[in-house]
Amino acid sequence: MQSTIAILPGDGIGAEVTREAVKVLRAVEQKFGHDFALPEALIGGAGLDAENDPFPQQTADICADAAAVLLGAVGGPKWDSVPTESRPEKGLLRLRAALGVFANLRPVAPHPILSGASPIRADLLQGVDIMVVRELTGGIYFGKKERTADSATDVCTYTRPEIERVLRIAGKLAQGRKNKVTSVDKSNVLETSRLWREVTEELMPREFASVELEHLLVDAAAMHLLSRPADFDVIVTENMFGDILTDEASMLAGSMGMLPSASLNEGSVGLYEPIHGSAPDIAGQDKANPCATILSAAMLLRLSLGLEDESAAIEAAVNTVLSNGLRTGDIAAKGDQVVGTAAMGDAIAAAITA
Ligand code: NAD
Repeated sequence: MQSTIAILPGDGIGAEVTREAVKVLRAVEQKFGHDFALPEALIGGAGLDAENDPFPQQTADICADAAAVLLGAVGGPKWDSVPTESRPEKGLLRLRAALGVFANLRPVAPHPILSGASPIRADLLQGVDIMVVRELTGGIYFGKKERTADSATDVCTYTRPEIERVLRIAGKLAQGRKNKVTSVDKSNVLETSRLWREVTEELMPREFASVELEHLLVDAAAMHLLSRPADFDVIVTENMFGDILTDEASMLAGSMGMLPSASLNEGSVGLYEPIHGSAPDIAGQDKANPCATILSAAMLLRLSLGLEDESAAIEAAVNTVLSNGLRTGDIAAKGDQVVGTAAMGDAIAAAITA
């Protein structure tokens, strides 16, 4: 049976890194005998340039028919003066809304061979394997906003169902991992956090009795992520805390070019993308690290298509290529062999079919 994966390259290095992920998906197709339809569509600045719309109708239609969506990145200086309502980032928000995705998953499992690329000491990185689950559609980013010349207000709201559905994703993930969930809030100060903690304490023992539950205040969590990162399994938190903590956690792995992400809804359709942006400073130069996008494709196969062996084959191929010494510039140390985006993708695809 044919599975459709919508490919949205977007802007800047987005086109370069998704091209390599497509190469890898084709290698998986060949190795495991699958049939993937991989239609491409415009989003972000590319959509604005071609259709005067950062999320054109044709893109919406292609995504609506797909089992999953793989995105590069959107945005760049070319569109910085475009009015807020039609900026490239608006295309991404509309895509998330169209898919109804509410939980953003960011795994952080630094490759031991790359420990030199992280600012954190190598001994602290041993055994680090964290899955951060960030609530994506609620909280202060989406609350009512008010502004006068001398005052400003951002309202933070959470409802019980919003908290429950993201906790269920975290609980299920923990069951397939090390059976531990750390819930992060600021319940000593914020009412929304007090509700978050109350719902967590009710739901987790009831629905995930075998999963160990830990609570941390967000300020302490920021510290523990650096001082004892190997102690974490699944971290679940609200939108703004997750936004900040995931960027902090990305430094455990050294480069944004290594980190994938998945955004999930209640069904199986998901949006998969690297955590980095369009990197205009290196766009078009064959310098971008495609691993984050290739590892996002691996998450896609596992979480949206249920293809565990195929997903593991991609992850193993990335490990093989890194172990063989290939490095893009962002993860290279002195004396390493530096290769370009396309050569890195070729090597990973070849490791799958080998
Ligand atoms: P960025 O992530 O694009 O780049 C930050 C730094 O990391 C740059 O020096 C870049 O060269 C480097 N980098 C990023 N990805 C890399 C990769 N795969 N390989 C090697 N190096 C890599 O962040 P930015 O510069 O703040 O933003 C650039 C544009 O991207 C902006 O328009 C921003 O709005 C947009 N953006 C989009 C998304 C998204 O599409 N989800 C996310 C973040 C930023």
